[in-house]
Amino acid sequence: MVDLHLHLENYEYTPQSIAQFLLHGSERGISEFGFSEHSHHFKQFKDMYFRNAILDESEIGEFQQRWLNQGEKSFIYDLDDYVELIETEKSKGHPIKLGIEVCYFPGEEEFLKNLLAKYPFDYIIGSVHWLDGWAFDMKAELWQGKDVDAVFSQYLDHFVQSIESRLFQTVAHPFSCQVFGAEPKNFDWDQAFLKIALAAKANQVAIEMNSGLAYRYPFKRITPPIGLLLKGSQLACDFSLGSDAHKAEDCGRGLAYFHRLSQDLGLNYLVNFCRLERIEIPLKDEGLI
Ligand SMILES: [Zn+2]
Ligand SMILES: [Zn+2]
Repeated sequence: MVDLHLHLENYEYTPQSIAQFLLHGSERGISEFGFSEHSHHFKQFKDMYFRNAILDESEIGEFQQRWLNQGEKSFIYDLDDYVELIETEKSKGHPIKLGIEVCYFPGEEEFLKNLLAKYPFDYIIGSVHWLDGWAFDMKAELWQGKDVDAVFSQYLDHFVQSIESRLFQTVAHPFSCQVFGAEPKNFDWDQAFLKIALAAKANQVAIEMNSGLAYRYPFKRITPPIGLLLKGSQLACDFSLGSDAHKAEDCGRGLAYFHRLSQDLGLNYLVNFCRLERIEIPLKDEGLI
């Protein structure tokens, strides 16, 4: 199995840190490891966040000011160093991939396109973490007073736009707007699943099966929702796997479940990437873990 969603952020950027992920992941049957550090760790992305984040005197604005200005890990790394580390380790023969998880902000497509083209990524994960300048997955209290139906509609719009931007090979944790358990009252889930699956198919962007919300957040369920897995498999969409591990011990966590589920959904393959090209990994060759 391939785990394409791993974060080094709680470790030094060293070969030893990478080795820890490989050690733990291999115990879960992971044979290829994709590192996908968050864009907000790198100084190269700083301007994009300050252009888009709410940074006023509101509760959200003040929280985000602190996070962006004083966050322990915000914009402290150089993307060049990260790329060099992963590429060097890869050249030694380790089964790793160079990825990155990039926050999608509508309107930043050109900025992202130009910046990302400078690096030899194997794949780029697109993630909707922000809606109209609000990072909705940071703090449950900041959902107070929000119109949940409107948030879900906006999330859907952003998510589809991120697919249509063609900046990304795969899109992470669909419907992570449920991170704190919010449930919309009037939201057409079936229509939403169809819209996403059609966009993913038309743009050949993979939908990520991500176990992170199930073990890292109160939501305790996998993403995407089962309905999107069904719709995506009916339309023969591509799917990628990611544990969203922020600790080496979590590398590969939950992916055996997805692997089994993929077979039950009738999928013939999952996808991996090499220098932005998709690679099909037949499911039948991997067996049950
Ligand atoms: Zn994410
Ligand atoms: Zn992530």
